[in-house]
Amino acid sequence: MKIAVLAGDGIGPEIVAQAVKVLRALAGDGLRLELEDAPFGGAGYEAYGDPLPEPTLRLSRAADAVLCGAVGGPKYDGLPRVQRPEQGILRIRRELGLFANLRPAVLFPELAGASTLRPDVVSGLDLMIVRELTGDIYFGEPRGRRTNARNEREGFDTMLYSEPEIRRIAEVGFATAMKRGRKLCSVDKENVLETSRLWREVVSDVARKYPQVALSHMYVDNAAMQLVRSPRQFDVIVTGNLFGDILSDEASMLTGSIGMLPSASLGERAKGLYEPAHGSAPDIAGRNLANPLATILSSAMMLRYTFNQDEAARRIEGAVKRVLGQGCRTADIHEAGKKRLGTAEMGDAVVAALRQ
Ligand code: NAD
Repeated sequence: MKIAVLAGDGIGPEIVAQAVKVLRALAGDGLRLELEDAPFGGAGYEAYGDPLPEPTLRLSRAADAVLCGAVGGPKYDGLPRVQRPEQGILRIRRELGLFANLRPAVLFPELAGASTLRPDVVSGLDLMIVRELTGDIYFGEPRGRRTNARNEREGFDTMLYSEPEIRRIAEVGFATAMKRGRKLCSVDKENVLETSRLWREVVSDVARKYPQVALSHMYVDNAAMQLVRSPRQFDVIVTGNLFGDILSDEASMLTGSIGMLPSASLGERAKGLYEPAHGSAPDIAGRNLANPLATILSSAMMLRYTFNQDEAARRIEGAVKRVLGQGCRTADIHEAGKKRLGTAEMGDAVVAALRQ
């Protein structure tokens, strides 16, 4: 199991070091992992003048999975667009053909108070959003600006999905549901959009291969409402790029803390890039303050989705639950009466909990 480790910028190196610690602890227990570092984002720019340097891309292509920290920082804000760290993320997703973004929203009972919704609405929340990442209105052609016959300016984009694009993301949705609660909700706007009519037809067709999964369809406006009304009704949601962009951010806030949220971007043959949902947090970088749990949970997703090591993934998730249960908190989730830990100490606590 070869893993490219791209720590990136800001808090990236600190949080990735904790995930690596956890993976190495599992490796000591018989999992065979090979980890190799490479510069990425601002660090790539510093080393090679490119946020995705050629050796980093080569390593990422050769690896089975990529573990990322985060990229970016005020230092790089003045660079031309192609050299900006965030371009490294967009390019690596494209180069590796990562078309499926998986973002879980899990509320750990110990952190119920951190959500903006009432505990009785969110407690027990455990849902996964599967968002298509490389198609839809963000990439459809034609797009542009023009002046119409009345001499008014217009802007236009094209919402477009081909059947194979829908089919492959639907497959990821069903496969994900099979690994969880076997419920899949496909979100579209079929009452208005042609793209969505095709989407619904193709998803329903793929469903025949998965009789064990209960499929439902929901309009996106209703899904936005249901996510805050009764989010526990969902197990897995599969949707296109635009709707998924919005719904995954909405769902992430249900859990209250950005420092807890992992993500996975998957391509063909389970190749994946795993990273926390947050950015490089330059305001707290280098101070041992960052919460490493999103990155540690991202490494659990890597074991589950790329390497099919469900038991190892569960061990990591169980260890995270245990440290929260023991009252361990980093600054972002700290509350009175709990043990406040630094980034490295939180990593150590998870490693210790793995052994319990
Ligand atoms: P951010 O997610 O980095 O930070 C937002 C707030 O959340 C900050 O107050 C930060 O301290 C806090 N925070 C984030 N992660 C945390 C953690 N693990 N533990 C504790 N607190 C945490 O978003 P931002 O400030 O808008 O962006 C900062 C930089 O990150 C920018 O350069 C941006 O472009 C980049 N960024 C990168 C990615 C990525 O690498 N995928 C994603 C988003 C933003």
